[in-house]
Amino acid sequence: MTEKTIPFSAEKLAEIMAQYPTPFHIYDEKAIVANVRRLTRAFSWAPSFQEYFAVKAAPTPALLELLAKEGVGADCSSLPELILADLAGIKGESIMFTSNDTPAHEFVKARSLGAVINLDDITHIDFLEKHAGIPEMISFRYNPGPLQKSSNTIIGTPEEAKYGLTHDQLLEAYRIAKEKGAKRFGLHTMVISNELNPDCFIATAQMIFNLVVEIKNKLAIDIELVNFGGGVGIPYRPEDTAVDLEYVGRGIEQAYNDTIVACGLGPLKIALELGRSITGPYGYLVAKAIHKKETYKNYIGLDACMANLMRPALYGSYHHITVIGKENAPLDHVYDVTGSLCENNDKFAINRALPKIDIGDTIVIHDAGAHGHAMGFNYNGKLRSAELLLKEDGSVQLIRRAETIEDYFSTMIFSNSADEVKAALK
Ligand SMILES: *Cc1c(COP(=O)(O)O)cnc(C)c1O
Repeated sequence: MTEKTIPFSAEKLAEIMAQYPTPFHIYDEKAIVANVRRLTRAFSWAPSFQEYFAVKAAPTPALLELLAKEGVGADCSSLPELILADLAGIKGESIMFTSNDTPAHEFVKARSLGAVINLDDITHIDFLEKHAGIPEMISFRYNPGPLQKSSNTIIGTPEEAKYGLTHDQLLEAYRIAKEKGAKRFGLHTMVISNELNPDCFIATAQMIFNLVVEIKNKLAIDIELVNFGGGVGIPYRPEDTAVDLEYVGRGIEQAYNDTIVACGLGPLKIALELGRSITGPYGYLVAKAIHKKETYKNYIGLDACMANLMRPALYGSYHHITVIGKENAPLDHVYDVTGSLCENNDKFAINRALPKIDIGDTIVIHDAGAHGHAMGFNYNGKLRSAELLLKEDGSVQLIRRAETIEDYFSTMIFSNSADEVKAALK
């Protein structure tokens, strides 16, 4: 069970809304920092530990800077994400470039920043060599395919995923990379997503530790860095239970001792690439009820839409909803809570039991701190919202302004004169 709370009072929220019109995303600095510290503590046993925050989850400079201050690096998979990490002060091997289907110029940028390049395919060795050269440090992404079915814990269906090298390709890849001059080696995998079962993460680590031993035995190559990817889920539903990070840390420590230490290997740098669980539970989409409609069903229309949070429409995901001031009211109404897109799946909730909602009510949508604003888009002429940071001292900082209609029109090529366009936007 997870209690769905919000980090501001109704009065505080009203104050914020007086300054920043809805919809907006707001992040809880204190909770993000506490969460990262807890993660770091859970891996304090490791010879060294690095969380590379998956930038795609929340690509906002102030959030990356906040995380960087806590020692968090960046997991990037595109040129803009590399630039964002660099600007946030995340340098060199604190960046892991875990990309796929990567254009040549992005490898060039990753190399110039000194990021750890994590190749997604065996053919990318030649591609990287041709366009950017082989770095001293190189990592490969492993896809265990149906192989890992032999493990007791079922971890995803990697054979269906486009990512990574097969077992045999992986061994060949290290051999080739070494021949081409690589001297330091990383091993990466990511086989699960939004997983709440802590044993899955321990099973993934065990699989990777076994592979480190095999690579040493077969190729005489010492792996220096192991990265278990992201995929720690968050309790979107009140009946869900958050992943116990201490339990995961202890389980991985045990596997490390039983496998790496027992074989006389290591020390290994242990890494994760969590995105969702780092910021997800600590971001909120704040909106207002602007319409109420009763036809074959009862609808509440918000001033936010799936352009602000796409997960419910995209995956049918549950996002908890709090109606401000009615936290303790009986959930005696059933609504579809909608946005304004001309798409019938633009709904934040379907058949949701909620208190009676009135026009003007403030609606807080939970767990929007990862893959929320980041997935925003402009379909139907919708503009991306602002992002705010609720600071530890209770003040509120604008960390991304809302898009304006000028932003929306800025890339369009008109047959009208510039003055005509300007006048029309007034
Ligand atoms: C998306 C992604 C992550 C982050 O996953 P979360 O589920 O947000 O923890 C990490 N690594 C890679 C390669 C990814 O694509």
